[in-house]
Amino acid sequence: MNYETARSALVNNLKAHIGDEHVLEAMLRVPREFFVSPDEKHLAYEDRPLSIGMGQTISQPYIVALMTEALELSSREKVLEIGTGSGYQTAVLAELSKLVITVERIPELARQAKDRLDVLGYKNIIAEIAEPEIGWQAAAPYEAIIVTAAAPYIPEKLLAQLAVGGRMVIPVGSRYEQNLYKVIKYADRNEIHNLCGCRFVSLIGKDAWDEE
Ligand code: SAH
Repeated sequence: MNYETARSALVNNLKAHIGDEHVLEAMLRVPREFFVSPDEKHLAYEDRPLSIGMGQTISQPYIVALMTEALELSSREKVLEIGTGSGYQTAVLAELSKLVITVERIPELARQAKDRLDVLGYKNIIAEIAEPEIGWQAAAPYEAIIVTAAAPYIPEKLLAQLAVGGRMVIPVGSRYEQNLYKVIKYADRNEIHNLCGCRFVSLIGKDAWDEE
């Protein structure tokens, strides 16, 4: 299988929905086959989520593109990602920002993702194991925050880690279906846009769901 050709075809199809050229170019540079399980590499450029073990999934490429576009990155931002998972979304973010801090609650996934990102040569990613408190207060505030697991509501403590003028994307809803929200933080208010319906694995922890 020629991954480059398959990657180009996928990104070409995303053009119908994603206008930000920088996001599309970043997705042309990141080899998704590197982030999926070895026996599913042939599915790496299908526009669908895939299992990455431990009950978790690598997000659908269209959703990765949509969430990344919503963050409006200009290569100067410090970005926080909650839910490293495979590390694929992390790599796309690293292509488009100054620094990515990514946190993952399952140590085994965090370690695998870090290994992959190191092998690919990313120098602007800091991968941490999540703490019980949501987010990563130590490096706050962030110009952009992306949550790649579904929350029951927008956690106040996470919004507090977003800089004024910053953007956050987060799926919010029940354990089984959610809406993807983009939140823009202003000094005196937050603006919330509903981007689409979606289905993510659960965000686990304080201010989120209990482990199943
Ligand atoms: N962006 C990832 C998505 C992985 S699925 C990818 O495309 O590969 C979501 C991930 O969020 C899972 O790996 C899960 O373990 C993690 N997660 C769930 N709750 C979390 C929390 N409170 N803090 C950090 N990571 C969390």
